Amino acid sequence: MTDAQTVLSIRGAEHRYRADHAALAGADLDLHAGRITALLGPSGSGKSTLLRAIAGLERLDAGSIRLGDTIWNDSHTHLPPEARRVGMVFQDYALFPHMTALANVAFGLSGLDKKARALAQLEAAELGHRARAYPHELSGGEQQRVALARALAPQPAVVLLDEPFSGLDRRLRGELRERTVDTLRAARTTALIVTHDAEEAMAVADQLALMDAGRIIQTGAPDDVWMNPVSATAAKLLGDVEIIASRVSGGQAETPFGAVDAPGLAAGQPVSVLIRPRAFMLTPDENGGFTITRRRSAGPHLNHRFAGATGEWTAQTPAPSALAEGDRVNVVLDPVYVRVVAA
Ligand code: ADP
Repeated sequence: MTDAQTVLSIRGAEHRYRADHAALAGADLDLHAGRITALLGPSGSGKSTLLRAIAGLERLDAGSIRLGDTIWNDSHTHLPPEARRVGMVFQDYALFPHMTALANVAFGLSGLDKKARALAQLEAAELGHRARAYPHELSGGEQQRVALARALAPQPAVVLLDEPFSGLDRRLRGELRERTVDTLRAARTTALIVTHDAEEAMAVADQLALMDAGRIIQTGAPDDVWMNPVSATAAKLLGDVEIIASRVSGGQAETPFGAVDAPGLAAGQPVSVLIRPRAFMLTPDENGGFTITRRRSAGPHLNHRFAGATGEWTAQTPAPSALAEGDRVNVVLDPVYVRVVAA
C-alpha cells in the first residue's frame, strides 16, 4: 500500500457554492495507482462536491488537483471535464434511456472498433447477452453494471463512483459490491467510491478516507483507521462509540471503568476516551457499581444498556448472556477497543 504510486493528488481544495459556507474547506487526498479509495462522510460533508471537482464539474476556489504532472485545476487552470481522463458512475446510473446497453457503453468511445470494444467491456461484466436491451429492460443491478462498463470502456485514469449501491436492496448490494470491486481490480483501475455507509466503505477500500465539514480528517487502511481513529469525529464515522471526557494524569486517563493508558499525550491534556461497545466487559456482582437498564437482542450479540453514578452507556456482549435488566454488574474495559485522543 505505502509504495503505491500516487496518481491523483488533491491539495487544499476549497469550494463554495455560497459565500458563507465552504463545501470544501481545504481537502487533501491522494489516490494511488490501481487502488480503491472509499470516501466516507456524513451527508453534507462535501463528498459529492469533491467528486464533482475531480471530474471538472465544479471549479476550485483555491487549492489544486493534479494527475501525475498534469494540472487539472489550480488558480490558473481549469481543465474541462472532457479533457480529464475520468469515468463517472452516478448514483442513479444516468444511462441514456433511448440507447441500448451496447450503445451506452460505446458512447464515449471512438474509432471503427468501438462497438467491438464496448461489447468486450459488456462481456467482461457478464452482460454480453443483454447488449441489445434498453435500460428499462434491465434490473437495477444490471443497470449499475452497464454504468460501470460505460465508465471503464475509455480506460480512464480515474473512475469516480457516487454512492453506486444506494439504490439497491441489501442482499443485492453486498453481491454487487463484491462484483464491482472485482471489476475495478481486473481493470487495474484507480477508483474513488463515495459512500455514507461505514461497513460498505471498509469492505471495498484499499484506502479509507474520512471526510467531515469539507476536509479529509483521516486516511489509511480500513482496519487501521477503525482501530486508531484520530479523533472522536473519526471514531463516530466508523460505528457506535462511547466518548468520555477526561484529562491525562500519570500517562493515563481516568474513566468510570478504571484508568486507561494515554500514550503520547501530555499531563493535563484534555482528552476523549473512545470506547467501542464491545470493549465493555460486564460481570454479575451484587456489589457492582452499575445496573443493567435495558437488554436488547441483536442476533450474534446483545446490547446491554447500563447505568452508573455518572452516566449511562451501551455494551455489546456476545450472545448468549445471562444478564437481565435490574442486575448489578462490574464493568472493566478490554483495552484493544479503547483509544485516547486529544479532545
Ligand atoms: P455530501 O456529498 O457529503 O452529502 P455535498 O458535497 O453534496 O455533500 O454538499 C456539501 C455542502 O455543499 C452541503 O452543505 C450542501 O448543502 C452544499 N451544496 C451541495 N451542492 C450545492 C449546490 N448545488 N448549491 C448550493 N449548495 C450546495
